[in-house]
Amino acid sequence: MTIPPGSVIGIVGGGQLGRMLSVAAAQLGYRCHILDPHEHPCAADVAAYFTRADYGDTAAIEAFGRAVDVVTYEFENLPVGPLRALGDKLRPGTRSLAVAQDRAVEKQFIEDCSGRVAPWRTVDSLEDVRGAVQALGCPAVLKTRRYGYDGKGQAWIRAPEEASEAWATIGGQPAVAEAGVDFSAEFSVIVARWQDGRHAFWDSPENEHREGILRRSSVPCSDMVALQVPEAREAALRIAEALGHVGVLTVEFFASADGPVVNEIAPRVHNSGHWTIEGAVTSQFEQHIRAICDLPPGVTGLMRGSAVMENLIGADVERWPELAAERGAHLHIYGKGEARPGRKMGHLTRVGRSI
Ligand code: ADP
Ligand code: MG
Repeated sequence: MTIPPGSVIGIVGGGQLGRMLSVAAAQLGYRCHILDPHEHPCAADVAAYFTRADYGDTAAIEAFGRAVDVVTYEFENLPVGPLRALGDKLRPGTRSLAVAQDRAVEKQFIEDCSGRVAPWRTVDSLEDVRGAVQALGCPAVLKTRRYGYDGKGQAWIRAPEEASEAWATIGGQPAVAEAGVDFSAEFSVIVARWQDGRHAFWDSPENEHREGILRRSSVPCSDMVALQVPEAREAALRIAEALGHVGVLTVEFFASADGPVVNEIAPRVHNSGHWTIEGAVTSQFEQHIRAICDLPPGVTGLMRGSAVMENLIGADVERWPELAAERGAHLHIYGKGEARPGRKMGHLTRVGRSI
């Protein structure tokens, strides 16, 4: 069912992704309503309405659902229960959320879709961790099943005797242990899918991380990555279809000697797609709005041949005077206030030859 311009789009989560979704929605004539537990979420600055409520507050979520025409979400660490009451109004649905928010469920789901993942085990005790390290070898990485992002909730095990320290580092929580992947590059497949199965990919960005946090995404990717993109797209589409996903879905990959290995999925717009705002004909944010409102798909081709997005993390944002003065560079500042270390404060995109 088409949700026409003039309608109200509810967005659960008020971070920078909600902010950029709201801007894109406003351009198409929608108004957004943000639900977030914080006092001043940065998306509320650019949205028509804001409700401050906990994500687990069933009554608040139900009232929110009645006040809007469609609901989407901008991150995956949300309790699924209260959102179930939204039924078809929630796009993407709770299945995408439930799979993406638990790393063990996610990996099993990907394998069931014939996607390649690093060898892995679920672990619930130090004994399990020791057993997993024996089976998987070193290096291996422990990741909490839930609530991890930007490298948080992870600990590397480079030798068997590091098992107990790693288990303590992640707080002894239910986790997955996975083999370290010897990759030559990281990249992502970003796909938007409509309820009827129509879909559109963007060029796959090659992604560079430091300390578990994305630093830079570049398109076009290198030739070596480009060789793996067709197989990666097929896997991403099988995952999107199995989820019945509506909206943008991002699948992160390692380019390995054995082919593309799925790292994780995000049931939403993604940091590695921020370059699409100026670098593609239709941005990931606009396309997500088009997909959940059932407007026709936008064209996703590159605007000027290439784009590079750099994240501004923590104190990086203090470079804004110099970045704002750079000819042709597109500066985005999220208006988040305190620039804590590791916090994503903004990004900069350079498209084609900027000058
Ligand atoms: P997050 O949810 O924090 O993004 P990821 O699982 O994507 O967590 O891990 C963050 C980064 O850590 C990855 O992009 C990659 O650079 C590195 N990493 C994670 N898992 C592995 C692995 N099994 N092998 C090699 N590098 C890894
Ligand atoms: Mg990741």
